[in-house]
Amino acid sequence: MVVGAGAAGFCAALAAHGSDVEVVVLERDSVPRGSTALSAGLIPAAATRFQAAMGIADNPALFAADLTRKAHGKADAALVDLVAQQAAPTVEWLADRYGLPFSVVDDFDYPGHSARRMHGLPGRSGVELIDGLRHAADACEIPLIVNATVSALYVDAGRTVCGVEVTRPDGTCDSLGCDALILACNGYGGAPDLVARYIPEMRHASYFGHPGNRGDAVLWGGKLGAKLEHMPGYQGHGSVAHPHGILISWAVIMEGGFQVNTNGERFSDESLGYSEQAAVVLAQPDGIAFDIFDKRIAAIARQFADFRQAEASGAIMEAPTLGRLGARLNLPPLALAQSQAEIEAAIRSGRPDRFGRRFPETALLAPPFKAVRVTGALFHTQGGVAVDRAARVLDTDGKPLPNIFAAGGAAVGVAGPRASGYLSGNGLLTATVLGRIAGEAAAAFAKRRMPN
Ligand SMILES: Cc1cc2nc3c(=O)[nH]c(=O)nc-3n(C[C@H](O)[C@H](O)[C@H](O)COP(=O)(O)OP(=O)(O)OC[C@H]3O[C@@H](n4cnc5c(N)ncnc54)[C@H](O)[C@@H]3O)c2cc1C
Repeated sequence: MVVGAGAAGFCAALAAHGSDVEVVVLERDSVPRGSTALSAGLIPAAATRFQAAMGIADNPALFAADLTRKAHGKADAALVDLVAQQAAPTVEWLADRYGLPFSVVDDFDYPGHSARRMHGLPGRSGVELIDGLRHAADACEIPLIVNATVSALYVDAGRTVCGVEVTRPDGTCDSLGCDALILACNGYGGAPDLVARYIPEMRHASYFGHPGNRGDAVLWGGKLGAKLEHMPGYQGHGSVAHPHGILISWAVIMEGGFQVNTNGERFSDESLGYSEQAAVVLAQPDGIAFDIFDKRIAAIARQFADFRQAEASGAIMEAPTLGRLGARLNLPPLALAQSQAEIEAAIRSGRPDRFGRRFPETALLAPPFKAVRVTGALFHTQGGVAVDRAARVLDTDGKPLPNIFAAGGAAVGVAGPRASGYLSGNGLLTATVLGRIAGEAAAAFAKRRMPN
């Protein structure tokens, strides 16, 4: 039995079904969406055939090193190794077995990745990913019960889950039995009390993930004696169009764009990563920044459905000169010009700027210039129940609970306990890879319990 129909839940269900056991997915909403639908649907994977076809050299060890470095060495090394090794087989499994047409984002670098390894579907949207997974599950005739919030677990004295209580939108309850349970109900971003307790720096930030992710996995896990790890960890994002509430791809920064605050001043090395930039942007006056970029960069960002939506809704402004752009944004003209001049001087000198950011020569912006007003937001939490290499939930002594597995945002991530530990794509990485592993492991467990 799987709780939650996001990327983790569907990958788990598909893997369990592929192992010839009966599986059912329980989902709170009437249509599966989850944070997966809100994402750009990009999954990092190293040494895939998609990369090989494009001549991109990569390998799991390099990927693991990138994950470890970004997480400041604080992520569980065994888990890092597992997801780095298993990401390519998982992406290829989704492509080859279920027909999801992945390709590599090959026109810009994501911060912290030493190879181009983000794999996405043609529209680069999470809706495409979740719909593709749901269609795959439908084609396998995997039962999906919607409008079914799992409200309690039935657990025996030996901490074995025997079934769950399901609450319907009209308040009525059903009980369902199970041999094994997979927690795929994401983290606690949708539970303001848990955010305030574990991530106080983001307690006033907008939560941009799925509101139905209310921390059930950690609440149930905590009661069962599961170890909760890296609870202050989270993925933030420092580039959400405001007030439109639309994610603006970090491509606009990585390709040479920069951020200024309402005083027209730069305030950070934006290239460190978008996750840690959320709190940095929120610390600026009014919690606002402006992404400044140009037409060339906009053409790259336009591959993302979110960016196209931002353009359609008028969030992206354009002007023939930086001065005119600043005037449209109400930015002090001198400060903006100085910010740009500093960057150009750094590019010409080949040296890092005063924040330590190194701009490539190709990064010189050219007219027409573009800008978008942005703020920082909490995307999803990275703390969760500890799991082993079979996605079994571990207790505080490091022993697996008898029949509970976890994947995606329900389980601890590979980013460590800080927002700055989040490497792009970590979310769907653990959702898809651990989802698949949890499905296979839960199926193997359930089969062992079946009478011969
Ligand atoms: C705007 C945005 C952009 C992002 N972009 C990316 C990206 O490009 N790449 C990347 O790797 N990550 C990205 N992420 C993170 C990524 O979306 C998540 O890490 C990933 O979707 C988590 O998958 P999941 O299956 O664990 O959770 P979800 O997709 O959130 O699914 C969990 C499901 O569980 C259901 N549920 C919760 N509680 C219960 C309950 N008690 N009973 C029944 N059902 C329940 C929810 O309704 C939900 O449908 C992004 C996140 C956001 C918010």
